[in-house]
Amino acid sequence: MRRTILTGDRPTGPLHLGHYAGSLLARVELQQAYDTYLLIADLQALTDHADQPEQIHLNIREVVLDYLAAGIDPAVATIVVQSGIPELAELTGYLLNLVSVARLERNPTIKEEIRQKGFGGEIPAGFLVYPVSQAADIAAFKAHLVPVGADQLPMIEQTVELVRRFNRLYGALLVEPEALVSRVSRLPGIDGRSKMSKSLGNAIHLSDSPDVVSHKVMRMYTDPRHARIDEPGEVEGNVVFTYLDAFETDAGALDTLKARYRAGGLGDVAVKHHLIEVLEGLLAPIRRRRQELARDPDFVMRVLREGTERGRALVRRTVSEVRYAMHLEYDMPYDRTTRLTG
Ligand code: ATP
Ligand code: MG
Repeated sequence: MRRTILTGDRPTGPLHLGHYAGSLLARVELQQAYDTYLLIADLQALTDHADQPEQIHLNIREVVLDYLAAGIDPAVATIVVQSGIPELAELTGYLLNLVSVARLERNPTIKEEIRQKGFGGEIPAGFLVYPVSQAADIAAFKAHLVPVGADQLPMIEQTVELVRRFNRLYGALLVEPEALVSRVSRLPGIDGRSKMSKSLGNAIHLSDSPDVVSHKVMRMYTDPRHARIDEPGEVEGNVVFTYLDAFETDAGALDTLKARYRAGGLGDVAVKHHLIEVLEGLLAPIRRRRQELARDPDFVMRVLREGTERGRALVRRTVSEVRYAMHLEYDMPYDRTTRLTG
């Protein structure tokens, strides 16, 4: 039996290098071997952007363009929009009964995001429970594998707990998923501190122009003690080298560069120029394909419509099984109820 992948992104902005290294590359590599579904999580984006529905709607198109430009083949992988499948919200409602508020508050990624977003005492309830909506997405597609960045590991853990609880209570129906974490599971932002994130203004986007990419790289923070070129520099914790570790494919060249930097005599500007070249090698073809695809909005819309329709058929099947298992068919014969509850 073929196994299923489900993963996705919030349409809170165009995708960035962290998405590429953390999850998108794995999806491109695995799309032939797995039944692959990519979910654009617009409902989840509303949990912290309730006041910006127009922007979320516009961003959906940006995310699709990024997928296609990065190598997702819509003839093989299915791209779905979360709000186009209302049964996902229905399943979220059922799963919410299987988790406590205390458990939701313990999720370390949620804790960190609440701090970063500065909600203060005004945390939207939908935000606190978004891991449950994510669990519903994964469970509805009966996904086996979820390629995600490290920040999503607590979400997968919570999904497994919910699936187990559901299966224990209502019958073994849902699939326990597994996270797939790539080599670069938490790319830092150009500030070198937090993870690269759409919401933190510290991202290099897959669609950034060459000028913007070089401007962002030149602004990157390096080793603060490396004030003069002839002094030895520190590679560890130096965000320029973190990016080179992630994206330079010539390991020999990278080792030489690190050795020269450590020994002294190699300036930050030269290393940054090298990084700009490496990133251009990755981004130029993506940018080119993206520009071509952007000229055909009908094609993008068709990919979304057909994908969402295909995805919805699968989700409907799962949710109707869930309803049956949960006795949520008020007109079912009473003898079935009696038999099941003993
Ligand atoms: P937002 O700030 O709106 O939450 P985001 O940049 O965190 O946006 P998401 O849409 O939340 O992006 O994440 C989509 C996927 O990309 C997830 O699997 C997530 O783990 C992964 N991802 C996001 N940022 C990074 C990163 N910096 N490094 C590795 N993976 C990442
Ligand atoms: Mg995020």
